[in-house]
Amino acid sequence: MTAPDPSDASDQRRLAAYAMPSGQSRGRVHAEPGHAYRGPFQRDRDRIVHSAAYRRLSYKTQVFTGELGDYHRTRLTHTLEVSSIARTLARALALNEDLAEALALLHDIGHPPFGHAGEDVLNECLAEEGGFNHNLQAIRIVELLESRYPNFPGLNLSYEILQGQRYRAQKNAAAARPLLEVQIVDAADGVAYSTHDADDALELGLLNLSEITQVPLWREAAERVGRRYAALSGDVLRRAVLHELIDWQVGDLLAQTRRRLLAESVDSVGAVATAPWLASPSHEVAQLREEFQRFLFERVYRHATVLARRTEAQDALRRMFRYLAASPDRLPEKFQQLEGRQGVTRSVADYLAGMTDRFALAESARLLAK
Ligand code: MG
Repeated sequence: MTAPDPSDASDQRRLAAYAMPSGQSRGRVHAEPGHAYRGPFQRDRDRIVHSAAYRRLSYKTQVFTGELGDYHRTRLTHTLEVSSIARTLARALALNEDLAEALALLHDIGHPPFGHAGEDVLNECLAEEGGFNHNLQAIRIVELLESRYPNFPGLNLSYEILQGQRYRAQKNAAAARPLLEVQIVDAADGVAYSTHDADDALELGLLNLSEITQVPLWREAAERVGRRYAALSGDVLRRAVLHELIDWQVGDLLAQTRRRLLAESVDSVGAVATAPWLASPSHEVAQLREEFQRFLFERVYRHATVLARRTEAQDALRRMFRYLAASPDRLPEKFQQLEGRQGVTRSVADYLAGMTDRFALAESARLLAK
């Protein structure tokens, strides 16, 4: 008896015509035999979860740094929330869940310590060499910097995963549309971060419920909650509104995506590439969310508490960059080896970008004390 092909048989029973079938993957750069009971995208997902860069996400900032408390999201828990929403969307649309999950788990793996504050410093330090971008750094990690296999550098992920991540880095309106699995991960990221950043800011006391209730997206969600539960207040109300915000936006995304799939007669993977963008919210929700994100930008991302940490973290990273660029012999051996091939500045950036927040702070204190 022949074992069933794990990449194909179950896919064909449950995937829509516009979903990417695992059995039709364009494969990996370094050829590998198939696995006895895991499909290719399932293996990709597992490779990402077992990587060092993925584990380090637990000590990397999403918006708020670790010393502010232990309630708020880290880059890892953000990633898991994105993955959870992406899987819900994938299952409801009969897309390839393994592919969507792998893409979601990968999407932020290239973030340096201290979130966008760290990214801005590295981008400035690499200005002469094409800059630094966390989406492209994710590609460097999975193609070059992770070392887990004896035969090749990186994780040797499937073509569709790498292409999906590249699309994130080089969003270009003129380019062919990415797979629908890539589109829903992008949509899931937008739903997840705006909702949980508001929750974290409320928990940290950077905002209060009455202020955020002035913002139309939140107010509408609170009114929906109020129609179901008459007299909620405080934390119970806040959590009910957060739940409603996610549920409402995911429901809206699903309805809109289904409507566009029908309107554009998308009946194959190829048709996704030439159709207009499919996985986006309704005009109403998009506008409300844009306004909500503007509010978060002004009131949360630029809050004095957040900015104070930002300056301190950026200073540590910048000084470490200068120090290591001038004394590359202080780099770990792996990065000294890379230096021969790609130059000092990129190697220093690769090393710094891989650090967690707490390691970066400890290491800057150690290196710069001498
Ligand atoms: Mg993200």
